[in-house]
Amino acid sequence: MRHILILGGTTEARQLAEALAPSPGLRVTSSLAGRVSSPRLPPGEVRVGGFGGPAGLADWLREQQVHTLIDATHPFAQVISRNAAEAAAAVHVPLLALRRPSWVPVAGDRWHWVDSLEQAATVLPTLGRRALLTTGRLGLSAFAGVTGVHLVARSVEPPDPPLPAELTVLLERGPFRAEQERAVFRQHRIDVLVTKDSGGAATAPKLAVARDLGLPVLIVRRPALPAGVREVADVAGVLGELGVVSGNVWSSGPADG
Ligand code: NAP
Repeated sequence: MRHILILGGTTEARQLAEALAPSPGLRVTSSLAGRVSSPRLPPGEVRVGGFGGPAGLADWLREQQVHTLIDATHPFAQVISRNAAEAAAAVHVPLLALRRPSWVPVAGDRWHWVDSLEQAATVLPTLGRRALLTTGRLGLSAFAGVTGVHLVARSVEPPDPPLPAELTVLLERGPFRAEQERAVFRQHRIDVLVTKDSGGAATAPKLAVARDLGLPVLIVRRPALPAGVREVADVAGVLGELGVVSGNVWSSGPADG
């Protein structure tokens, strides 16, 4: 029985689990961190919660006889990606990272790149007075000290303190279509967008709206993957690497090394 562990929490991870739907001879487990109280569950087995660092993940890989580890976590989930690289190396399990490509600016974009949320918080007051923040609930504390800018933050769950003084929280789960994004910009009189380079189509409409309105975008660079980790850009790329031709048919057996 081949066992594939998908480290998830992203749309791509769910799509991969769907594409690898369990069949005779294949066991697929998706792992979620447990940050969201009612996540959309992928097909196959699902486990929730941390492993207990790289050593805990290595134990899990060994005990559950995992053949291939797929790191399909969010590009900004840096700790789990580092743990995956360390654990996979320790127990000699092949590791593949599924990373949607970075966003690339096009004509009309006014992007200002920064290296961290903290740097974004420092630069923000120079760019606008009413900011739409789509950097995630856990990143909000980085903006707690910002003054003179009203922040509008979107979050699936209510954020925990410390929070910025001038804050409106929109409790919503994406993806959002361009019309919805446009309405948020209009309703809250947004004059600057703050986001992370998450990449992918699902969260890109806000960038198009900012471009159409001629507004600046403060965008946080994504961290690099751990050295030596092989990376593919989409689910088809993972299936190719695993040797899955279509619908769980192995071409010559999944890559083992
Ligand atoms: P992180 O900082 O990289 O990881 C922190 C700890 O959470 C890890 O050490 C691990 O605990 C646990 N963990 C993370 N992902 C896990 C997974 N898929 N399965 C089991 N344990 C996991 O992670 P994060 O940035 O907080 O992200 C948490 C989850 O949300 C990830 O699954 C990610 O794909 C998803 N997500 C993150 C972002 C983002 O912007 N960071 C955006 C959208 C979705 P142990 O050390 O105990 O194993």
